[in-house]
Amino acid sequence: MFISKKALAVSPSSTLAINSKFKALKAQGLDAVGFGTGEPDFDTPENIKNAAKAALDNGFTKYTPASGTPELKKAVCYKLKRDNGLDYEPSQIVISNGAKHSLMNVFTAICDPGDEVIIPAPYWVSYTELVRLADGVPVIVHTTEESGFKLNPDDFEKAITPKTRAIIVNSPSNPNGMVYSAEDLKAIADVALRHGLYIVSDEVYEHLVYDGHTHTSIASFGPEYKEATIVVNAVSKTYAMTGWRIGYTACSGPLAKAMANIQSHSTSNPNSIAQAAATEALMGDLSAVAEMRKAFIERRNYMYKRINAMEGVSCTLPEGAFYIMMNISKLKGKTFYGKRVETSDDFADIFLEKALVAVVPCSGFGNDDFIRWSYATSMESIVKGMDRLEKFLKGEL
Ligand code: PMP
Ligand code: GLU
Repeated sequence: MFISKKALAVSPSSTLAINSKFKALKAQGLDAVGFGTGEPDFDTPENIKNAAKAALDNGFTKYTPASGTPELKKAVCYKLKRDNGLDYEPSQIVISNGAKHSLMNVFTAICDPGDEVIIPAPYWVSYTELVRLADGVPVIVHTTEESGFKLNPDDFEKAITPKTRAIIVNSPSNPNGMVYSAEDLKAIADVALRHGLYIVSDEVYEHLVYDGHTHTSIASFGPEYKEATIVVNAVSKTYAMTGWRIGYTACSGPLAKAMANIQSHSTSNPNSIAQAAATEALMGDLSAVAEMRKAFIERRNYMYKRINAMEGVSCTLPEGAFYIMMNISKLKGKTFYGKRVETSDDFADIFLEKALVAVVPCSGFGNDDFIRWSYATSMESIVKGMDRLEKFLKGEL
């Protein structure tokens, strides 16, 4: 059967694949614990669910404009002003089926075949595949654990070629919770501006920042920064709305129009009822987010302490988002339960098989010395996961 080269080159999302494996084990009645997919374990707040119910009852069930309802675009503008100090017009906003879809639109709109997009590693697993799907070429620039996984502006500049079109900046970061300071961001943005690049700023975790760290949008540095930046965001993480599939972009008018055109032929509008719910989410207060943040901090602190007290593994303290990257480099070459660990995939496989704990190998995130734990899960599961890790490492399972 013929399958295009492009399709064959795409690997499945490891975050979603781990989740499927975990659910299959649960379905067999096994006491599996999942730290795979990053999605808040909290339910969507009541006021948001009520807005969806009202939309349904009022027959808001038809096509909306392909790039989103005027109400939701206005709500996005309101949010961007309130949270980020940014002034956008509704015509500069495109509402899509989650931030993942927004990113697909972005790369389709800015990449000609062979255009390069710089991605600092470790990175969220879908960036490379999304760029490839848009006929672009992902160019990886590595960062180190010692530098807090922060991109060095000189390393970024060295990776720029005449084909470079954009850089992706993701702060707070998936997979390691790194948060750039405003100064860090400005230094990166200055390099991008000097070379006429787009800055794709993925801000989906903006409200999940801890210990006095703050989130700054690159677009807020001034008009020329705003012109170069494509802000990508979603209601998925902030409002525990991963299943509703609403994300959005804010960018210059002509680019927004190009993305709206693409979307008008690919998916048409995102779900009308989910758009009504997202409007309520963005216009409402952030009290539910504050509650989630409190729980995330408690979980993160617990995991950080437990992991660093164990022999053979370690992690740095995440400053935001809900992920911990655990360094397993010292375990490589060792044998666990008759199986040798050579890669992060090996570790994740043996750990799942023996301890029934699902974690994501960071092979797909651009650094094979790590595995990722999502702490967007209950404290009970976290305690279980940490206890099992301890036993697993001691060979006591
Ligand atoms: N960007 C990052 C950094 C993410 O972790 C995710 C997680 N899914 C997304 C984008 C996509 O979000 P959404 O669920 O809104 O598509
Ligand atoms: N972004 C989340 C994660 O990294 C959700 C799954 C996905 O879309 O990749 O786990």
